[in-house]
Amino acid sequence: MQKPYLESMPDENGFFGKFGGAYLPPQLEATYAEISRAYDKLSKSFDFINELKKIRKHYQGRPTPITYCRNLSDFVGGGQIYLKREDLNHTGAHKLNHCMAEALVAKYLGKTKLIAETGAGQHGVALATAAAYFGLECEIHMGEVDIAKEYPNVVRMKILGAKVVPATHGLKTLKEAVDSAFDAYLKDTETQLFAIGSVVGPHPFPKMVRDFQSVVGFEAKEQFLEMTGRLPDMVTACVGGGSNAMGIFSAFIEDSVKLYAVEPAGKGDKIGEHSASLTYGKEGIMHGFNSIMLQDEEGNPAPVHSIGSGIDYPSVGPEHAYLNSIGRTNIGLCSDTESIDAFYKLSQHEGIIPALESAHAVAFAMKYAKENPKESILVNLSGRGDKDIDFVVENYPIPTKWA
Ligand SMILES: *Cc1c(COP(=O)(O)O)cnc(C)c1O
Repeated sequence: MQKPYLESMPDENGFFGKFGGAYLPPQLEATYAEISRAYDKLSKSFDFINELKKIRKHYQGRPTPITYCRNLSDFVGGGQIYLKREDLNHTGAHKLNHCMAEALVAKYLGKTKLIAETGAGQHGVALATAAAYFGLECEIHMGEVDIAKEYPNVVRMKILGAKVVPATHGLKTLKEAVDSAFDAYLKDTETQLFAIGSVVGPHPFPKMVRDFQSVVGFEAKEQFLEMTGRLPDMVTACVGGGSNAMGIFSAFIEDSVKLYAVEPAGKGDKIGEHSASLTYGKEGIMHGFNSIMLQDEEGNPAPVHSIGSGIDYPSVGPEHAYLNSIGRTNIGLCSDTESIDAFYKLSQHEGIIPALESAHAVAFAMKYAKENPKESILVNLSGRGDKDIDFVVENYPIPTKWA
């Protein structure tokens, strides 16, 4: 009998086909090998699984619901749109799903400090939350540009007891924050764990983070069946590194359900105007793993842009590169302005203010619903938009609904 997909992928060296792996400086090889061995054991340990289950229920407030969007579906006049409400997960996004689990791994490994990068600040807030819960020290690296743009999250991290370190080189956004966090981690791998914020980085992180996020997909599958008596025709999510998308996709990979990974088309198709890695990128190694990435002429990670600061990353998790290469997933695109439109539409038709990242998936679902009127569409609403409202209203006038 063939092993289920989630058990057979990645292979023991962390490869999804040719993507993934652990491309590390020699001084880090033993560290990641040890984390990998430890996770293999933990993922089968009753105590670990049981502790995580309790945290999901009593601390995070899971399961999060599925909401049927009657008004938005009627407005679009096509397929039926449903949302998996990760905006209602504690801290307001899906990221706490992997942060609580990564912190629990750190605890089992006897580490005392968590270190990480953050883009929009959502991973930083989620990790600082997890660190507070487990009594661990926490240091978050963040691009200077993002610190200015996402200031409320910076304050939140500090209130939660974390130290925020600005990344001041290059474009001063997510990629630079990853570089800076890696440098800090290299100085002490004994007491620190680098808790990566998505399904990226060297093995075992793409696998671990996917497993920790799969709770979203497994909940959603059961809930959707209970609500409608069948599976959705299509499941979609926005992709930065790809953790919320892998989370919801993972439960449907072996079903006949279409999967659409939505990439940020930004403000144009030239290098530096978007972050659509799968659409415009090519194979390359960055941040310790082989995947599809946006590169400049010298093969270095290219500058990227998206209005959603949690999705402006020049690569994508190796599992996304693999699933796309074998044709299991499709790519959707959403521009900055389409995401703003969806941000306001979902707010005014459903009373749900989405994160600008999540609005990319909503915008694509609206386009798709119009073209596929007989289908039911499940969107992973990865987070809430409170963090984005100041930026949005300063730059895009609020539409009047009852004109
Ligand atoms: C970080 C973030 C994302 C992008 O990260 P993935 O790993 O691609 O899921 C999407 N939505 C929200 C709300 C985020 O905070």
